Amino acid sequence: MSDPILPGATLGVLGSGQLGRMFAIAARRLGYRVHVYSPDVDTPAGQVADREFSASYDDLEQLAEFARSVDVVTFEFENVPATVTDCIQEHCPVYPSGHVLAVAQNRIREKTMLRDAGLAVPEFREIRSAAELRAGLLEIGVPSVVKCASWGYDGKGQAVIRDLDQVDEIWKTLATDQAILEQFVEFECEVSVVGARNCRGDFVHYGPFRNSHSNHILDVTVCPSGLPDDVNERAVEMARTIFNCLDVVGVLCVEMFVSKHGKILINEIAPRPHNSGHLTIDAHKTCQFEQQVRAICGLPPGDTGQHADAAMANILGDVWESGEPCWESLLACDVKLHLYGKGKARAGRKMGHITALADSIKDADRIVRAARDRLVNK
Ligand code: AMP
Repeated sequence: MSDPILPGATLGVLGSGQLGRMFAIAARRLGYRVHVYSPDVDTPAGQVADREFSASYDDLEQLAEFARSVDVVTFEFENVPATVTDCIQEHCPVYPSGHVLAVAQNRIREKTMLRDAGLAVPEFREIRSAAELRAGLLEIGVPSVVKCASWGYDGKGQAVIRDLDQVDEIWKTLATDQAILEQFVEFECEVSVVGARNCRGDFVHYGPFRNSHSNHILDVTVCPSGLPDDVNERAVEMARTIFNCLDVVGVLCVEMFVSKHGKILINEIAPRPHNSGHLTIDAHKTCQFEQQVRAICGLPPGDTGQHADAAMANILGDVWESGEPCWESLLACDVKLHLYGKGKARAGRKMGHITALADSIKDADRIVRAARDRLVNK
């Protein structure tokens, strides 16, 4: 077993968005240095890092220089080619490792792994042509959801099929050579479990968080979930099984659907901190980003105790539509504001989030939504 990587060392992050920013803030609080790598400049993570590498993920020379400058690498953006992790691994460890990344990057591999581990997933088929899509629909039925097997996020690259007549048009729009067809799940709610595990196998978790989406993008998360204890416990056990099966070192999020009768089906996994875990910064003794630091450095996990019921609301670029949002009005509320330092606001772009703590999730949910409304109601 390798020695822990102690404060004073340098941690590398692949990707430079808000997840990297919040990781870097947690790492620097613990006395680490942080280098980030992505094709962009003046990024959310780069703004708070010690060094920002701006080069393409194909630039193996720059990647090697980045890897030589750090003691360990993690990522906040999992859609990097396998050549990237192979190149970095020649110089320093990468967590979670390449095989976890490979499973999470492809929805067929992901669902197959989950099913083989004995975990429930929506019924699915691999699809490689319009003819296979039609055949799959005849087996699974309508409505169904078809998704590109790779590179999708926040509902991009997917469509709900309600009628067999839509097959040719939808297949053309997806413009992919590999997709997954899934049974449409009539869920009661969506939940997620964020876990962290170090190389000694010490495992901690948060949640389940209860998530509501708007236009396929996470809108509001509350914790605790308000679901019965046995549902919460099963969700956590499913997450623990995934960590053990894949021997995950680092942070990983499991997104799940819960039916009216408490049945849980896994939707997907993300091998990094997750938007639904952002409320842990304000609501928990140790946040998901500090757990990422501890896990990849081989340190003991932090206490995941929760201070109070909590809710988190995302701030999307849409609130800039009629000018600068009214920050003074928001900041007069009893909430915590987190902004990611992104220059350009675009509709649907995640610009920040707000967290509220209260005596109940109902109150926290109400407070956080009311605070967000103040950004546009001048
Ligand atoms: P994904 O990109 O797989 O996370 O999907 C984005 C969102 O689409 C999910 O959070 C769900 O709200 C919805 N969704 C995805 N897959 C299904 C499904 N099989 N049945 C019903 N809704 C789904």
